[in-house]
Amino acid sequence: MPGRNFCSQNLRPFRLKRPLNGGGRWHWFPLKAAVELVARLGYAHGLMTLTEKILARAAGKTSVQAGDNIWVNADVLMTHDVCGPGTIGVFKREFGQTAKVWDKNKIVIIPDHYIFTADSKSNRNVDILRDFSREQGIEYFYDVIDDSNGHWVFDAAKGNLKRQYGSRYAGVCHTALPAKGHTRPGEILFGTDSHTCMAGAFNQFATGIGNTDAGFVMGTGKLLIKVPETMHFRLEGKLQPGVMAKDIILHCIGEIGFDGATYRAMQFDGEGASNLSIDDRMTIANMAIEAGGKNAIFEFDARTAEYVDARVKLNGTKSTYEPVARDKHEKFIYELVVDLSKLEPTVACHPDPGQRKKAKDMSDTKLDRAYVGSCTGGKTSDFVEFARVLRGKKVVIDTFGVPATPDIVNDLQSTFWGNSTIWQILVDAGVQMTENAGCAACLGGPVDTFGRINKSGIKCISATNRNFPGRMGDKESQVFLASPATVAASALTGKVTDPREYLDN
Ligand code: SF4
Repeated sequence: MPGRNFCSQNLRPFRLKRPLNGGGRWHWFPLKAAVELVARLGYAHGLMTLTEKILARAAGKTSVQAGDNIWVNADVLMTHDVCGPGTIGVFKREFGQTAKVWDKNKIVIIPDHYIFTADSKSNRNVDILRDFSREQGIEYFYDVIDDSNGHWVFDAAKGNLKRQYGSRYAGVCHTALPAKGHTRPGEILFGTDSHTCMAGAFNQFATGIGNTDAGFVMGTGKLLIKVPETMHFRLEGKLQPGVMAKDIILHCIGEIGFDGATYRAMQFDGEGASNLSIDDRMTIANMAIEAGGKNAIFEFDARTAEYVDARVKLNGTKSTYEPVARDKHEKFIYELVVDLSKLEPTVACHPDPGQRKKAKDMSDTKLDRAYVGSCTGGKTSDFVEFARVLRGKKVVIDTFGVPATPDIVNDLQSTFWGNSTIWQILVDAGVQMTENAGCAACLGGPVDTFGRINKSGIKCISATNRNFPGRMGDKESQVFLASPATVAASALTGKVTDPREYLDN
């Protein structure tokens, strides 16, 4: 395939050092040399992890190892309405009011967070992004409105459910980035959002950075980073019916804790990983940050190629890329083998994503609300599993559905099961479905945000990715993270429920 070559890394020659003073210190030098030799031999056979390979190439080096501080070239910088104005402010302050960005074709700006709110400062943030994109000639600005000289104002009188966006609006950044052809294997993606790690599903090094770093990348296209150690999660077998990718990542985070991967790469591979769909890989990679991970990464395969090639072609974005491939005996800081066939529907309880329990053991946990949406849980495949459980039934608690992107809204409204669309099946089940795709209540937002928890003491089961106190609104509320199937089953009973009870639906 044109433009696609697997990364191969050559080796620096290793030279054994001899002791200068001889005699009594020989015992020290051979030991040190032996340790160094073993480490180097890893590289001598190209034994870097996927993450190290990408970082080495981006730094123009033949090899790197965990702990190295290196300057890497960015392929894409993404920002959104919450961090974009701050990033632009840093860029202008440091590089000058009339400075030009390092590469206007490598900056992607996606308003998605605080969009469908009457909060005037949030609306103004979208205008700041528009002004900057126009000034810089940035093509990949996915504006909320079609008028490039206009102002965004959410019209609360029209309500939350009917769409209020123009033709270029793209929805949640992490879901929109791959769909719009901006994620490519082997590349470096920096984003001003912690869940940027989701693009690791595409064999890419993708990580979240702060506004200051992003302002620097905006001006130079470079960033100094420390090469992370890599943790290895080998997935074997296949998921059983009723168990989803969300259960895999909740299981893994439960194993290591919500800080167990702090500043580490999480590499997912093995036969079980290659059996997973692209959406499933995105769900898993998305939540690496919930264990503190620097990035997540999957192997490149035919599924990756099919997805990426179709999206870059459809959107006319850069079509060449160079994936990285695994070496067999690369070194990891940690190893976990996960037999997917043994996993069960899993819940991360309040107050952090590492509080793992089995859904079947939580049937005495009463709930007030259910929520499906976000970059993690608002994809078409998530809503399909949500609808599969709810079809022909009625929810008994307040239940909200927020697709991640307008394209997903269209998918759900145009895909029929029998005489009803998936969208209609959900509405008939009592789900409040909004066409205003975006982050919505995943991170709370202004008080008029759709689905936001505004009352103290509410317990919500959610297909989102983070459940620290106050994440979805009120600080005294509790959020339980689960798969869309588990959220659906729980919405039907008003308590945490194992979706396998509804497999016949
Ligand atoms: S949907 Fe939630 S996790 Fe994803 S980008 Fe938006 S706020 Fe962040």
